[in-house]
Amino acid sequence: MFEKILMTLLLLASLGAFALRARDLVGYLKLGSGEDRRPRSWAQKLKEQIVVVFGQRKLLQWTIPGLMHFFIFWGFVILFTTIVEAFGAVYQEGFHIPLIGKWGPLGALQDFFVVAVLAGIVVALAIRKIQKPGRFRGSHLKEADYILYAITGIMFTILFTRAAEISLGFFPYPTEWTPVSAGVANLFENFSLEAREAIDTVFLWWHSLIILGFLVYITYSKHLHIITAGINVLFTSERPKGALKPMYIDVEQMSEDDTFGAAKLTDLSWKQLLDGTTCTECGRCQSQCPAWNTGKPLSPKLLIMDIRDHLFEQGAQLLAAKRQGEEQYAAAVEALPALNPEIVEDEVIWDCTTCGACVQACPVNIEHIDTIIDMRRNLVMGESRFPREMQTALQSLETTGNPWGQPPQARIEWTKGTSKQEPLEIPHISEAPDAEILFWVGCAGAYDDRNKKVVYDFARLMQIAGVKFATLGPDENCNGDPARRMGAEYIYQMLAEQNIELMKENKVKKIVTICPHCFNTIFNEYPQFGGTFEVIHHTEYLAELVKEGRLKPQTTIEKKVTYHDPCYLSRHNDVWEGAREVIEAIPGTEYGELHRHGHNTFCCGAGGARMWMEENMGKRVNTERTDEALASASDTLAVGCPFCNIMLSDGITERKADDRMQVRDVAQLLLHSIEIRPSDGDAGGNGSGNGNGNGDGGRSPLSGNGSDPEEEEKEEA
Ligand code: SF4
Ligand code: SF4
Repeated sequence: MFEKILMTLLLLASLGAFALRARDLVGYLKLGSGEDRRPRSWAQKLKEQIVVVFGQRKLLQWTIPGLMHFFIFWGFVILFTTIVEAFGAVYQEGFHIPLIGKWGPLGALQDFFVVAVLAGIVVALAIRKIQKPGRFRGSHLKEADYILYAITGIMFTILFTRAAEISLGFFPYPTEWTPVSAGVANLFENFSLEAREAIDTVFLWWHSLIILGFLVYITYSKHLHIITAGINVLFTSERPKGALKPMYIDVEQMSEDDTFGAAKLTDLSWKQLLDGTTCTECGRCQSQCPAWNTGKPLSPKLLIMDIRDHLFEQGAQLLAAKRQGEEQYAAAVEALPALNPEIVEDEVIWDCTTCGACVQACPVNIEHIDTIIDMRRNLVMGESRFPREMQTALQSLETTGNPWGQPPQARIEWTKGTSKQEPLEIPHISEAPDAEILFWVGCAGAYDDRNKKVVYDFARLMQIAGVKFATLGPDENCNGDPARRMGAEYIYQMLAEQNIELMKENKVKKIVTICPHCFNTIFNEYPQFGGTFEVIHHTEYLAELVKEGRLKPQTTIEKKVTYHDPCYLSRHNDVWEGAREVIEAIPGTEYGELHRHGHNTFCCGAGGARMWMEENMGKRVNTERTDEALASASDTLAVGCPFCNIMLSDGITERKADDRMQVRDVAQLLLHSIEIRPSDGDAGGNGSGNGNGNGDGGRSPLSGNGSDPEEEEKEEA
């Protein structure tokens, strides 16, 4: 009887402490600002729970640690039944769970998972103590050790309790299903009845006490994720991966007192605070982050941990102030330190390229980019505190509609070609009602010399294929990506609204662009402002034209080609096949992947508006990626993004490797291989007559009409 009373008291104390802490934690999350995360698609949510939580898909991207976690996770699920049995056994000798409690296969699963979890612990300890990967730098390692030791204790006590029950004859499962427990029971064969009873009692209580302590401890530790991970996955954003959190600003009504983004802890949304309480400190995000990997202070893991620690530090007093009344709460919020730079250094916030590697790697769907951008929004729109060099780009975006600060009329300069290229006549969308495609040129394509050639070559390819297309000419504005990712939401909004209005006026439906940032913004973010368009990246479009036989690569190009996946195409939008299909369709090319490719690509360093900021700390991100490309067996680095083109070309020049590797857009490689036939001129869908210039049958663009990048570069040199 005493045993039962004591266990009941301990159980109530532990559950009570757990409930109080859970109440506080919910209160902490409610300190955050509102954000509508009501699930829109339950089917999608169910799928995510199955795939991410129960299937552990993101963890299994890394085989060994993934399998280790998979077995520990499923061990917890299955062995929950043994915990119920253990507590039941305190109250009733020979207790079994109704219906399933004597079922052999369940007993077998329990046995299996005891061993699997122990094996998982050995692997976890080996990773932590022997391998010591850098991703754990900054994590609470001691805390993780305590948890591993506690889990080891739970497993051994389960095993010994089961073995003692077998030897005492009241084990509920048939022992032929539980060979491990039966094997341990053999150890007690020659023990007296009293000794076996004592072993049963000691291990049963030991087991129960660890569980009760564990239940309270996890609510104060990073292992809180055991409870919050499933919830965090449930409330994962349903926005497209590449779309930032929407923010609507009434520019007309903006005043100095308005707050934007996240200045203080309470400006972060409840979901952003939940992210903090869910972080497992696994460091997967940190290990993939281009900023961290090149020696910058930004670690997405430490950023999330800092916010979590700040919440735990301030949560209790904020809750107490809230209970006292509105005035007291307002004063407590007022007294909070600023998130930047007190909790997170400004530099950390500006280092991010918004490449998405952290979000993709995170096994519990933490959304780092939303938090970083909210802090940028505050720094730019609230504090006017940002890297000095950004000022010029922002002013240019506001006054000229492009970050280069060039006049709108210069947007069509590229159509004039170079000394080796004939001018192209491309109609404005308003003059081409039969245009099937709006070619969205983008600022980099229009104003950067290297990319003007790409735009020209892509336009030539469309003409050769007989595509009817038009552009917005000088009326095109920057899509707004740099402004939005800098945190200047009001400039983004202004540009987005102008572009959407213009395209709607001209009844644009289908857009093709050479720029993944334009692609992502128009396709994923313009719908937030009522602009929904079909957008295709030029690599996919070219692959389509090749498949349809409208473009026929014929000239052999004996090059070893590799392709750099742009983050905003491959990772944020799952678009990567077209580029490879086009390259592989070119006769003579030998294609090889870079070590990090597809979803797992590595940033070129220009995203997140980093293109417009200095990079003074650590190794340059573009140099890191260039080194990876140079270490490959390829001599040509194909790209599908004007910014990657600039960054990687600069990287190769910096490494003095221009004779070893050339950077070429996929469109340039394809045009290089297209044989122009006399009839191609007529195929130019816009009646421009520029399909093949002089109709000099059978020659390759290398001989004059298209741009031969190598020739042009020699000429420039
Ligand atoms: S988005 Fe990329 S650069 Fe930014 S924190 Fe994540 S991994 Fe690092
Ligand atoms: S944010 Fe995600 S990936 Fe990064 S340490 Fe936390 S749980 Fe791991």
